[in-house]
Amino acid sequence: MLSANIGHFEDTNPEVHPAAWKLAEHLRGIIRAATAIPAGYDLESALPCRRRPGRRPCPGWMKIRRQDVPAHIYWECSRCDDSGLIHGWEGCPYDLRPPRPLHEQALMVIELTAEEHAELRRLQLLDTDSERMVWATYRENDRLVLFGTDDDVDNLVGFVAFEANHLHDRRRQRRLDSVLTKLETALRTIG
Ligand SMILES: [Zn+2]
Repeated sequence: MLSANIGHFEDTNPEVHPAAWKLAEHLRGIIRAATAIPAGYDLESALPCRRRPGRRPCPGWMKIRRQDVPAHIYWECSRCDDSGLIHGWEGCPYDLRPPRPLHEQALMVIELTAEEHAELRRLQLLDTDSERMVWATYRENDRLVLFGTDDDVDNLVGFVAFEANHLHDRRRQRRLDSVLTKLETALRTIG
């Protein structure tokens, strides 16, 4: 089990230490997901495993749990033996607390593909509400489920549309467009 203090990765430079940077990005994603949900809850997250046994990506995903006292985040792969404990994350830039409640009224659920969710995770300009929504996405059987109130979804639409318009990469744009269509369809269904 990998025990890591996220503070030690602050100055990691992707050019100088690409492997350390990759690990840091992995841990930052886990922190965001862990703090986007209430403590003591097991999140079957949308985050893929970072391992590549035999040069093939491990098909597993991250199972994540946060406890606040002491402040520990536990993660493990659903398939391989990759696992870890993160500390020193409280108040860091990836701490998305307060988390979103899991039982809001009028929740909308939107099914995403792994590629669509990966694209949402790359968005730079999300507000905190949208970030929580993206990182709290959970896995149910083989489905990735984004959830939120109609206000949350409406808010996210604005950010996704803006970034999709400013991308030059056609493939990324297409993925974001397909997310947009799903969000807008969901909004129309309840409206
Ligand atoms: Zn794995």
